[in-house]
Amino acid sequence: MRIVLLGPPGAGKGTQANVIVNKYKVLHISTGDILREAVKNETAPGLRAKKFMDAGNLVPDQLVTEMLTEKLKNSNVKTGFVLDGFPRTVNQAEILETALCELSMPLDLVIYFATSEQTILKRLTGRLICRGCGGIFHLTNMPPLKEGICDFCGGELYQRSDDCEQTIKNRIDVYNKQTKELIGYYERKNLLQKVSGDLDVEPLFIILQNILEKIF
Ligand code: AMP
Repeated sequence: MRIVLLGPPGAGKGTQANVIVNKYKVLHISTGDILREAVKNETAPGLRAKKFMDAGNLVPDQLVTEMLTEKLKNSNVKTGFVLDGFPRTVNQAEILETALCELSMPLDLVIYFATSEQTILKRLTGRLICRGCGGIFHLTNMPPLKEGICDFCGGELYQRSDDCEQTIKNRIDVYNKQTKELIGYYERKNLLQKVSGDLDVEPLFIILQNILEKIF
């Protein structure tokens, strides 16, 4: 299983990626997570990426594609992977295609999460992330059993600094200007399947499962 989850911020890509990787035992590759880890560790790429991330802008293609190709080379991707948050530009999609072609592992499917702006704003302003396992919760839609504590690993929950209203608006803008054209790009390659990102976690996962089980 080699799939890309495509959609605006707050579409539920990360949440569904977590459910998919648990069920199908494939690798979850999130460029956002890789970048946040690099920022936390104050590596050279992390320090370069930080100002773009804080503003809700895309990190330059070269920086992010280098990190991604390194991850692909150094991970066991034979059993499959779910790419979440990558590619975000046509240039990134082309680099991905070349890298996967070299590994003889072309993409099987791109799932596009069509999501309304209202849902995006509601989800992101209340989103909580676990510092330990990356689990995703929501203040009202999916609250943890114990306030501030992850149900899965007991880690501390936090709100991402780019999940504030002004940065969210810019991230949506950036998505519309730079990422949305990937819908047509993958449609022309006959790889695209559209689902509704407005659905709650469980009904959407049932739909995804039906799609995945027809293919894998
Ligand atoms: P995410 O966790 O996917 O919402 O990503 C958080 C931030 O990381 C984005 O707002 C970008 O600044 C940066 N980022 C993540 N993935 C990419 C990518 N593929 N290309 C450029 N920037 C990215």
